[in-house]
Amino acid sequence: MTTPIRIALVGMGKIARDQHVPTIQQDPVFQLVATVSTSGGSVDDLPAFASLEALAASGVAVDAVSLCTPPQVRRAIAHSAIDQGWAVFLEKPPAATVSEAIALRDHARARGTGLFASWHSRHAPAVEPARVWLADRQVLDASIIWAEDVRQWHPGQDWIFEPGGFGVFDPAINALSIATQILPQALFVEGAAIDVPSNRGAAIAADVSLRTAAGAPVHARLDFLQRGRQRWDIAVRTNDGDLLLSDGGAALSINGDSLSVADALHGEYAGLYRRFAEIVPAREVDMDLAPLTLVADIHLVARRTEVDAFDW
Ligand code: NAP
Repeated sequence: MTTPIRIALVGMGKIARDQHVPTIQQDPVFQLVATVSTSGGSVDDLPAFASLEALAASGVAVDAVSLCTPPQVRRAIAHSAIDQGWAVFLEKPPAATVSEAIALRDHARARGTGLFASWHSRHAPAVEPARVWLADRQVLDASIIWAEDVRQWHPGQDWIFEPGGFGVFDPAINALSIATQILPQALFVEGAAIDVPSNRGAAIAADVSLRTAAGAPVHARLDFLQRGRQRWDIAVRTNDGDLLLSDGGAALSINGDSLSVADALHGEYAGLYRRFAEIVPAREVDMDLAPLTLVADIHLVARRTEVDAFDW
């Protein structure tokens, strides 16, 4: 058996604890060796540090880090980790801005370290079957509905409504990561309307008009105040039938026939870490910026409306 990849987790919040810790602990390719937490978070009796610099100075042997912080602080931490020669797994979105992400990509290439801009929703079980089914069909139009209750899914996460926190685009970038994966042509933004609460710095809802390079219209309705049934759906009409990818990529139906159903987030992180296990030894840079670029483009063209203040 080869030596495991020694990995440290940075930012011990919800996604680190819900997905990264159990996935790493169940994967013999990785060994969790340390945590970095500004609030003293730790895992079992593993060495725990207050900063990446403290981890680097500690002498704990590390090959890779996974960054599970909010996007606003990610670039600086990732840059320091690359300086250490560690491979870096970036939670989505890879950075707060496109230029930050490009700088990280260039820095990793220059230093010869692995870098992975992860898009967990692309590893949802029905995404690849959807991509294959759409590959040789002509898309007529598509509709994205990403509507969830921020109070249920992100309670108290104030960073999400700060500038650089992405607001409703924090979940909606998952929809764009799937759409850019399954649609056979590139997507362009044509227009957008964005609602921003009067007391916050990021969007709470948006309507976005996009078009594929082949001319098919794609509409996206994004909502962070959804009550009742939560929706993470992408519907695509083609010249040869209709596809519905629902539950964030967990379920697929074609012409009304259900093809597969699985739990949301089921297996997504196992898939991400399988990919990271290839990236680390190969010192590869895997950074597809299409979803982040679309979010940036949406904000470039968007008409903004101030709406009611938002409080938890
Ligand atoms: P979270 O629960 O708020 O955790 C983020 C953690 O980052 C905090 O607990 C904190 O950990 C650390 N942190 C460092 N600097 C911070 C700052 N300035 N403000 C707030 N926290 C700071 O958030 P999360 O839901 O885990 O999301 C983290 C990232 O994962 C986001 O980019 C999100 O899009 C992505 N993600 C989340 C989910 C999900 O379902 N929640 C799913 C997939 C991806 P320490 O106190 O340990 O430093």
